Amino acid sequence: MKESEKSALSIYNSLSREKEVFEPINPPFVGLYVCGPTVYGDPHLGHARSAVCFDIIYRYLKKLGFKVRYVRNITDVGHMEFELSESGEDKILKRARLEEVEPMEIVQRYTISYHKGMDALNCLRPDIEPTASGHIIEQINLVKKILKNGYAYEVNGNIYFDLDKFSNAESYGELSGKVLEDLQSGSRDTSGMEEKRSPHDFALWKRATESHIMRWDSPWGEGYPGWHLECTAMSTKYLGEQFDIHGGGLDLQFPHHEAEIAQSKGAYGHGPVKYWIHNNMITIDGAKMSKSAGNFINLEDLFTGNHEKLKKGFHPLIVRFLMLQSHYRSKIDFSNDALEAAEKGYTRLMSAMNLLDQLNAPSGLESSDQKLDREIVKACERCHQTMNDDFNTAQTLAAVFELVAKVNAFHNQQLDIKTVSSTTFQNMCDTLETFVYDVLGLKQVENADNGITEELINLLIDIRLDAKGKRDFETSDKIRDDLEAIGVKLKDDKSGTTFEIDH
Ligand code: ZN
Repeated sequence: MKESEKSALSIYNSLSREKEVFEPINPPFVGLYVCGPTVYGDPHLGHARSAVCFDIIYRYLKKLGFKVRYVRNITDVGHMEFELSESGEDKILKRARLEEVEPMEIVQRYTISYHKGMDALNCLRPDIEPTASGHIIEQINLVKKILKNGYAYEVNGNIYFDLDKFSNAESYGELSGKVLEDLQSGSRDTSGMEEKRSPHDFALWKRATESHIMRWDSPWGEGYPGWHLECTAMSTKYLGEQFDIHGGGLDLQFPHHEAEIAQSKGAYGHGPVKYWIHNNMITIDGAKMSKSAGNFINLEDLFTGNHEKLKKGFHPLIVRFLMLQSHYRSKIDFSNDALEAAEKGYTRLMSAMNLLDQLNAPSGLESSDQKLDREIVKACERCHQTMNDDFNTAQTLAAVFELVAKVNAFHNQQLDIKTVSSTTFQNMCDTLETFVYDVLGLKQVENADNGITEELINLLIDIRLDAKGKRDFETSDKIRDDLEAIGVKLKDDKSGTTFEIDH
């Protein structure tokens, strides 16, 4: 890509609440850290949205020529049931107890399940995927540093971050806009109240009770790290004390990301991140997704259709396509109608992509239809501009569909392909392939409705006809019966043989 395209990328920074021109700290390198899953259950739409959002950002930065190191953690310890008050049970321990297995079996099972879901959505794997349990030493060292700088205190083997002291010296709440007074009045936190200097102080390290299985030795006795700590420890280890982009869902902005900023400032004296990016949430039929509302949809259910809210299953790439139809900072509402509309749009896009190779490329260097030529060039430019404008995939898809309309018109001969220049035609093909496949990460879906299956059935019909011609009825009947057994019904009449696929 051209240098001018590289420099034009702008990103909405949650920290400044403004769009800023993207200038990496140490170009051409870019450090990207994204908060990954707590692996105690199957991946759902919330996981998918965050993964797809940052997959697009990762792909596009690479396309622009940056050397990106993408780090996404796996939380396998220290994430409590009630996040705000850090109370209840550790989410992984609770699941292990319910399923009567080792906590690390839970971690393994749901890490695999998460990878399977994200692979199906065609999300590229991060370059480093560190686990919290694999970085206990780094987390202990970080706690020591914060203690030494005077921003934490120990009570009975628990270490708490001292927010009152911190906010006297440093600004707190700059990311979420929350101030300590809000937290104080809104706090229903009772865990560790008798130990904490202030109710909003969060735990950096927790003492393990007798029954707590996941525990490690520390200078403060046996315990385990607080949830916020791992992201600071691991992002620093792999990307440095200050790096380019930190991402995550909007629900992580407070308290998780605010705590990360406080921990970094408490340890190193400065904030960790230049650009904070937050993706918006998903609603189902207009309502917030929650287990109690019965509209909580796992990816597996969505792909198979095994959920009372769903009319049928949808291919993972249709789910991805639906997400790309909205900008990552907008909410997305999932409904049967939205999914079916996405399915139509996706099919339309992919059939146009299939036509690209079939079009007879023009050979003329000059175009005889300047207006048409210009329209195509402009739509190609808009693909770049819209991605450069804070990764606006919704607008990128709109530009892609302008090109799709042209491809279809060339194919139907409503437009004469010879009237555009060979350069413009090539530009159109390259832009479509780059954006649809490489940047947006879409690809052809193989299912029973596509052309290949039809071609194969027609091939079998031909073989059956040959067999009949040779009076080899054994073979011709076998083809008919075997096809019927897999749901393809052949119908013979005077004009030949047709078929129906039974879904
Ligand atoms: Zn995190």
